[in-house]
Amino acid sequence: MNLSDLEIAKASKMRPIQEIAAKLGVSEEDIRPYGKYVAKLPLKLIDESKMKGKKLILVTAITPTTAGEGKTTASIGLTEGLNKIGINAAVVIREPSLGPVFGMKGGAAGGGYAQVLPMEYINLHFTGDFAAIEKAHNLLAALLDNHIHSQKNTLNIDPRKITWKRVMDMNERALRDIVIGLGGPAQGVVRESGFDITAASEVMAALCLSKDLMDLKEKLGNIIVGYTFQDEPVRAHQLKANGAMTALMKHAIMPNLVQTIEGNPAIIHGGPFANIAQGSNSIIATKMGLSLADYAVTEAGFASDLGGEKFLDLKCQYGGLKPDAVVLVATIRALKSHAGIASANLKEPNPKAVADGLPNLEKHIENIRHFMLVPIVAINKFSTDSEDEITVVTDCCKKLGVEVAVCEAWEKGGEGAIELAKAVKQAVDTGKSHFTPLYDFNWPIEQKIETIARKIYGAAEVEYSVKAKQQIKLFNKIGLDKLPVCIAKTQYSLSDDPVLINRPSGFTVKIREFDIAAGAGFIIPIAGTIMRMPGLPSKPAAENIDIDADGNISGLF
Ligand code: ADP
Ligand code: MG
Repeated sequence: MNLSDLEIAKASKMRPIQEIAAKLGVSEEDIRPYGKYVAKLPLKLIDESKMKGKKLILVTAITPTTAGEGKTTASIGLTEGLNKIGINAAVVIREPSLGPVFGMKGGAAGGGYAQVLPMEYINLHFTGDFAAIEKAHNLLAALLDNHIHSQKNTLNIDPRKITWKRVMDMNERALRDIVIGLGGPAQGVVRESGFDITAASEVMAALCLSKDLMDLKEKLGNIIVGYTFQDEPVRAHQLKANGAMTALMKHAIMPNLVQTIEGNPAIIHGGPFANIAQGSNSIIATKMGLSLADYAVTEAGFASDLGGEKFLDLKCQYGGLKPDAVVLVATIRALKSHAGIASANLKEPNPKAVADGLPNLEKHIENIRHFMLVPIVAINKFSTDSEDEITVVTDCCKKLGVEVAVCEAWEKGGEGAIELAKAVKQAVDTGKSHFTPLYDFNWPIEQKIETIARKIYGAAEVEYSVKAKQQIKLFNKIGLDKLPVCIAKTQYSLSDDPVLINRPSGFTVKIREFDIAAGAGFIIPIAGTIMRMPGLPSKPAAENIDIDADGNISGLF
């Protein structure tokens, strides 16, 4: 029976989007349909008074393998399961980027029988939000280069200190570093520049942290594009760019409504990276979910030390959000890989290796408890998992006093997530979560970083390069020290070194330098190499994608 995700999606009968809106109590007049199965939700549907008493469930994971551990699949599955036990739940997730769609196998629309539909539409262009973000970003770049060329650089911008690049939604390593303005004096000023992928754009991060259109305009205006010859920051509003940039975002700021395979509401909006940005959907979409449904289930990128920590410290503090429980997705294969089992051997039953990998799970449980939240472990079951292996994990959770449920949503849809849904409801009903962020935005920069590194990563200490120390001095001077921190590091380790698997300790986190997202509202301590523009693999997924004369797309996973 091995059907592909696309085959399963195509075989599912979709309901008109009006029916899905009706489940959320939204009338036909209040939605903006994009065809029969997709609609945008206007911001007026966000209602703080309706959010009271609603439940927010965060889905995060243990330290993943390269394949991803199934957070999106579990989030969608849990939403189906909650609806099956009579709870009005909506899933709120990110929009896929075309980079991974054409690069490595893996979109962001779930998998198996836990998917959001229409899958092809969501994975390819969707409602054009990424295109709007890209245009807004590139408009600022064009205005900047034009200022230097046509406006005689009255802002005194040092072309060598421009930090604002261009973006496109494609894996394109050849554009990472380029020289622009070649061809003589009529073609602008020659300087080095480059492209990032759209998901890495600060416009994306700003959109996802904005309350409304005017807040977005202010954030876009505060973007630092570079520095003057005297090292003063130059911001987008000085180029009079933020009005037009925000005008381009008029529709993109509205969350998108689609449906799950079982016809439950899914709100999809924004897709910032989880290393150099906050890694979760927009605050607007989360608030929309909490306004319209009783439970909003949402996902944060990578594991609890990356997307999880940023969701809780950055997004929740900015958005005034308070999660009621956290689902921690674990897979048998990831636990075995933390015991050092090679990827070729992960399918062989090996309860001993599972047990050896448990310290990683234990650390992520501890991390969630640092935020005074109740964790529920969801074992995302693969067909190769043995009963003995699963028992190793459930026994460990029982010992730690943590609820655990096997999630079979990938294979069985909502039916396979009923046990998980019940465990989540029970955790929510007991009311034992008392969300407390790890740090206060007003703390000194070093204290914020060290708190995360010690408590969440398990580091012994933090070391700063000379450059990083100089930058901290600059931030203190120009008033950026009160911003939250968004640490960029590897997703393959709790530490900043990808080879340190399982639960490393005694390590030093090394902050090389900082990036700034002054518009979106955070600074980015960089611990490790970061990638803002991925490349395609030697066998790109795009080679398998095709379309026939009737418009049927194939090969999308
Ligand atoms: P994440 O959100 O953690 O990155 P996804 O939910 O996107 O992970 O899943 C990653 C990939 O693994 C997807 O292709 C999905 O179809 C597949 N997958 C997830 N769960 C299972 C499972 N239980 N069995 C088989 N494949 C799965
Ligand atoms: Mg995901």
